[in-house]
Amino acid sequence: MSSDHSRRLLTAELLSVGSEITAGETRDTNAGDLARDLTRLGVRVGRLTAVPDRLDVARDAFSDALQRSDLVISTGGLGPTPDDLTREAIAAALGETPMVDQELEAWLRELWRRRGMAMPDMNLTQAWLIPSARAIGNPNGTAPGWWVNAADARVVVALPGPPREMRPMWREDVLPRLQARGLGEEQEIRTYRLTGIGESAVADLLGEALLRQQNPEVATYARAEAVDVRISAFAEGDRSAAELAEEAERVVLAHVGKHVWARDDESWASAIARRLSERGWTLATAEIGTGGTLLALLGFQPWLARSVVAPAHTAGDLEAMAGHVRSAAGADVGLAVTLRPEGSDTTVLIAIDTDTGTKTERRLAFLGGEQGRLRAALLAAAVLWEALGEG
Ligand code: AMP
Ligand code: MG
Repeated sequence: MSSDHSRRLLTAELLSVGSEITAGETRDTNAGDLARDLTRLGVRVGRLTAVPDRLDVARDAFSDALQRSDLVISTGGLGPTPDDLTREAIAAALGETPMVDQELEAWLRELWRRRGMAMPDMNLTQAWLIPSARAIGNPNGTAPGWWVNAADARVVVALPGPPREMRPMWREDVLPRLQARGLGEEQEIRTYRLTGIGESAVADLLGEALLRQQNPEVATYARAEAVDVRISAFAEGDRSAAELAEEAERVVLAHVGKHVWARDDESWASAIARRLSERGWTLATAEIGTGGTLLALLGFQPWLARSVVAPAHTAGDLEAMAGHVRSAAGADVGLAVTLRPEGSDTTVLIAIDTDTGTKTERRLAFLGGEQGRLRAALLAAAVLWEALGEG
């Protein structure tokens, strides 16, 4: 075992142990939660793996992950029953033998005594340690975690499966210790949110070379409310993360800049609020046949002077409705939106009324029903946002 603590932990893998996960009975939320935290801290997460409660499979997963990554974090398999074999799997991967730790045993027995019960022998496995491991306290359960200093200054952390036990141990104990130890590297992340363009058109404009390069990494994500282009960069050689991100950003903005409506995780409500406040304006909306999806998207806001939600059969002159809701509310902008099925898709009509006049836009939303209504609200938000940027 190496005592070299100089290696920063730059790469990580997550291992979810448990047949209930590989059988699809339990959704693996742990790995994603940990991956998000690590990624935000500039750690490159190379893989998320789930394995059943099988010693050979789990052992191989630990040793393979340790070959590839500086840090391996597992969740699950720390219970007292024979199918909980994470401890054995780590011991086997490292070629060590688990033994009952006296201090842990005393702590466990005390937990049982407090409950007024005798501790079943089976639970003694939760007092196991290997020479390379230290226990991680679990304030909400009987399964302590393991912190393992492995060869080459790599680290294995084993945490219990139940999120209500795992999360506090992670946030309050493990994460601060990992950060003190040296975790991640400087990273620059910039996200651009696009409207009025599909993901494949974005990919086409950006080109394969840009989308496949590793650093800076440029990725597109088709989300409900936007196509996001995410740029992430790590420092390399004498070039800072910010420099590399800027280089990619110039290319991205040159190609799709005119579609950008927000940065990072800004919402439609906030992007619209920004444009309204530039003019000191308020908004009134009337939505007909949408089921209130626009109000749900925008939320109750100080700048939303009035919001009328009406059933489909009340549809009439849309421009008149935009004007009416505006004047009734004493607002600066009136927006009326309605929709009608168009085959399996949805036609969306959006009228916007200001004191310089009224205009109507027609858009086609992909899919019908609830999806069509949700997309109608997004289209109305996009059309409004565009209109507020003009003139
Ligand atoms: P275990 O420690 O493997 O016996 O897991 C105990 C319980 O923790 C399971 O029955 C699940 O309810 C929960 N759990 C285990 N692993 C995960 C995971 N990866 N994500 C979310 N919950 C989990
Ligand atoms: Mg289990």
